[in-house]
Amino acid sequence: MLMQTWSFFKKSLGHNILRGLELGEFSVFYQPKMDMKTRKIKGLEALARWHSPGIGWIHPAEFIPIAESNGAIIGLGEWVLFSACEQMRYWRKNGFPELSVAVNLSPSQLEEKDLISRVEDILTKTGVEPRLLELEITESIFIKDSSRALAVLKELKKLGLSLAIDDFGTGYSSIGYLTAFSFDCLKIDQSFTRSIHLPQTQVVIRAITNLARQLGLRTVLEGVEIETEMVMAGHLGCDQIQGFAVGRPMPVDALTLNLAGFHMSSGRLAGEDYQ
Ligand code: C2E
Ligand code: MG
Ligand code: MG
Repeated sequence: MLMQTWSFFKKSLGHNILRGLELGEFSVFYQPKMDMKTRKIKGLEALARWHSPGIGWIHPAEFIPIAESNGAIIGLGEWVLFSACEQMRYWRKNGFPELSVAVNLSPSQLEEKDLISRVEDILTKTGVEPRLLELEITESIFIKDSSRALAVLKELKKLGLSLAIDDFGTGYSSIGYLTAFSFDCLKIDQSFTRSIHLPQTQVVIRAITNLARQLGLRTVLEGVEIETEMVMAGHLGCDQIQGFAVGRPMPVDALTLNLAGFHMSSGRLAGEDYQ
């Protein structure tokens, strides 16, 4: 790709995101999460992907912060949620094993006045059982107005879905939030996985999983890439893992093939390396 083309494109990335959505350039990839006890795939995380003709793949690290700052994340986030729910409906209709799907919810979406009714509307339209939907929220929502965030999250919980704290341990969570906000799941940030061989990191992960268990929260260790990290995650009490060692984020066709082939029982989904 020509540097000039990219820098020109990047300048108008905000505008291009919405245009890209209209033109069908976005898709949703799904990454599996594995249960440490049963070694089976328990759920998936839906991740936005953008392929722009002429530019190629554009990483979420490039477009999510821009979408967040210019408001495009509202439309994009809702589209990802709707697509994931539609996909769940398809899998259920076609007899696939029941899997929960987690969708990332941005801080701006949480500030939308009609967020609750929009989520409710999507659940009704797609007929997805709310207990199979999880919304992942980053710790940064607590910086601004935690009392408002608390109210919105309580309303979301009333719909019957579950809530996860994403990238736990990197941001601003206070232990008190864990109970006040009725979270169901803690996703331990992948920076802990990168240093999981260090005794002090092991102490921290064990403390987090112990605390979570006492509070009735599930834990997922993110970014598990190799077998030794997977083994350590089990020793340190993580309920689930997510990462390349289990499976990469993959397009829906590849994932559906994998699910149909029931590679699920081996603890690792087959599949090539995708974006
Ligand atoms: P996240 O929600 O924490 O998602 C996990 C990220 O870690 C994904 O990056 C995934 O591809 C990557 N990952 C998974 N396993 C491994 C591993 O074993 N090793 C390494 N090195 N990385 C791994 P991705 O897809 O690039 O997304 C980055 C971030 O962008 C996400 O982090 C999430 O915060 C945001 N994002 C993606 N899609 C959406 C969306 O639809 N809405 C919102 N609001 N944010 C999104
Ligand atoms: Mg996430
Ligand atoms: Mg994460």
